[in-house]
Amino acid sequence: MSQIDRKADRHTRGRIMFMMAVFCVLLTSAVIIRLAFLQIINQDFYQQKALSNQTRDITLYPTRGTIYDTNGKPLAISASTEMLILNPRQIAPKESSDLTKAERSLLGFAENQKYTLTDEQKTAIRERRIQLIVESLPTLIDVDSETVAEKAAKNNAYQVVLRGIEKDQADLVRQFMNDNKLAGALYFVGDSTRYYPYGSFLAHVLGCVGTDEQGLTGLEKKYDDVLTGTAGRKVTLTDRDGNALSEDYELYYPAEEGQSLVLTIDEVLQHFLEKNLEIAYNDNEVQGSAIGLVMDVNDGGILAMASYPDFDPNEPFKLSETVQAEIDAIADDEKRSAARSEAVYEQWSNKPVSFLYYPGSTFKIITTAAALEEDIVTPSSQFYCSGSLKVDGWHKPINCWKRVGHGAQNLRNVLENSCNPAIMNIGLSMGRTTFAEYVKAFGLRDKTGVDLTGEAVGLFNLNSNVDLAVYSFGQNFSLTPLQMITAVSAVANGGTLLEPHIVKEVLNADGTIAQSYGRTEVRQVISAETSETMREMLESVVKVGTGKNAYVAGYRVAGKTGTTEKIADMNQTGQDNLYVTSFVAFAPADNPQIAVLVLLDMPTVGNISGGINTAPIVRRFMEEALPYLDIDAIYTEDEQNAKSVIMPDLTGMSYSDAEAALKKLGLTCSSVGSEAKITDQVPAANATVSSNTKAILYLGGTKPDKQVTVPDLTRHTLSNAKSTLQSMGLYIRVAGGVSEGTQTVTKQDIVGGTQVAYGTVITVETTDTAQQSH
Ligand SMILES: [Zn+2]
Repeated sequence: MSQIDRKADRHTRGRIMFMMAVFCVLLTSAVIIRLAFLQIINQDFYQQKALSNQTRDITLYPTRGTIYDTNGKPLAISASTEMLILNPRQIAPKESSDLTKAERSLLGFAENQKYTLTDEQKTAIRERRIQLIVESLPTLIDVDSETVAEKAAKNNAYQVVLRGIEKDQADLVRQFMNDNKLAGALYFVGDSTRYYPYGSFLAHVLGCVGTDEQGLTGLEKKYDDVLTGTAGRKVTLTDRDGNALSEDYELYYPAEEGQSLVLTIDEVLQHFLEKNLEIAYNDNEVQGSAIGLVMDVNDGGILAMASYPDFDPNEPFKLSETVQAEIDAIADDEKRSAARSEAVYEQWSNKPVSFLYYPGSTFKIITTAAALEEDIVTPSSQFYCSGSLKVDGWHKPINCWKRVGHGAQNLRNVLENSCNPAIMNIGLSMGRTTFAEYVKAFGLRDKTGVDLTGEAVGLFNLNSNVDLAVYSFGQNFSLTPLQMITAVSAVANGGTLLEPHIVKEVLNADGTIAQSYGRTEVRQVISAETSETMREMLESVVKVGTGKNAYVAGYRVAGKTGTTEKIADMNQTGQDNLYVTSFVAFAPADNPQIAVLVLLDMPTVGNISGGINTAPIVRRFMEEALPYLDIDAIYTEDEQNAKSVIMPDLTGMSYSDAEAALKKLGLTCSSVGSEAKITDQVPAANATVSSNTKAILYLGGTKPDKQVTVPDLTRHTLSNAKSTLQSMGLYIRVAGGVSEGTQTVTKQDIVGGTQVAYGTVITVETTDTAQQSH
């Protein structure tokens, strides 16, 4: 919905509210006049009521709209619940028939006999009832006795005790009301409550609502107006105790349901991303967050967006045990309370749009694209890296991450090697003005305009050639992950910067589309030709360069590593080695569809760099995402041998039929025994195996009935792991289909020490640890 539409909508609502108010006044006057008239006819009956007439005005809460993923899966829903109202003026009994058995015996009243209650008796029963309500409600619903006592003490007819009560709890209260003749003092009206059926799933993006169902953060806040709907009203003329005088004098405006949102988020991709971020957070013992983003490069739609740790929007104020313990340890009340608020906001913050970081070497993509576009360099330009570069104005040479230098390189090698001196030379040749123009043109100086809350913009103070040299490789100025992936998407998609968006459609309550959003072009930043050159060079980074660990067999992935020191945090905490490692990629390189950015804020395990810590996360994501997106894999011969296939069930077949079936899958086999039909096999049916696997088929009898202890393979080379497992009667499968024996095993799906059946397949992940690029 455009700004203007929203304004118009608010205006209309304002007018309706005003008209309702006017109507209400008119109605009240009409009723008073009518009552005054009736008084003449039946003075006794109406006199008291006319003197104290008033209205009871009940707000009818609208049902909040649903938030769906791109395929219509509901991620935030509102269910009907009930709201409990207390009328303090109806607690006291009016006559003896209002009394419960217990109350009658307390007053010494005989059963089935009518008494006139004295004021003292009424007050005594009232107090007893208040005590009962205050003691009982907290045992039935989520409310504390102080709150109930406070409300019961109010001198009016309408007190909301609790909203969002579910049916089974409401039934308990109804039972309590019946048992104690409290049906006038307590009653229910309809309500609605927000639920997030998948807990922490997409939590930072969805946000959460407060106790009055108002959006507090995320899309719930950004689209609060749209989702909320319009409250209705039920106005009834009552006597001073809140008794409705007559249904004739009732004004009823039904609530108007909120509109729903359909997101660009794809639940399946979001799941792949969240799962891998959580694994990466734990594997790398990350001190900050693991952050990830996936974008449709041709449309600007955000397909997945997450950070870990997360929170459950069903309980948005609940902190993790660790954080809660830290806060509980603060002695000072005021400081503790402030720390608590800060922790809640931190927990809600949507890092992909709010986290500012130095992009590091991922930024070399932008510097190189700008220089190509300006004809300052060509793919065949030659550079020389001696290991450092002296820049005028700085007292010492600025180092390459590879201290011995990269020697002679062309532009492609510069990106593959992620060479700093070469990129500094490129930046310096471009000059400050041109460089700054491109940074601006790629949208890195402004908010992206995404329809989310909390978007940050970093500092950019390019004042000298020393600044320029360092900025060229992404140091000393900051941006957000969303800005970065949006700029890289422009590099990939033919050169057009798009405005990112996360809402695809706004739906009316009847399901019709009220508004839809799609590709919004901001500007053409580089030519289609420059874009093509960049795609080809960045694919090379993943094939043979520092981005090798993001390589996915069968797919053309292009990408770039990034590693930056968090200097300010290191100075502040006195800790060494605080880094942000990142990897940005897109695929397929020849026809890009998605871009992925993953960042780890302060990983603490291993030889920290973007190539080692973050590229494998992107690989794991791509491995699942690309087949899901129906992108066909095209394997090289080597990849064909290493790709994964599912082992068929061969029992009952002849050996030659089984051999033919396996051959179709690229598998080979050998036999044990001499019967005509296959009686057993290893690996077992349905196991995922590498296509270079050699199966054993048993013709008579079964495989050896023995358990094998899985060895710890981590830090072994792939070839070593292969031969170790083979000698034990176990099989190996390499995730991602990597076949280079020199790679190091970093993970295995069944941990060392586990007992498994003979012939079990162990899946390992490997990393090229030689990649230490910044
Ligand atoms: Zn270098």
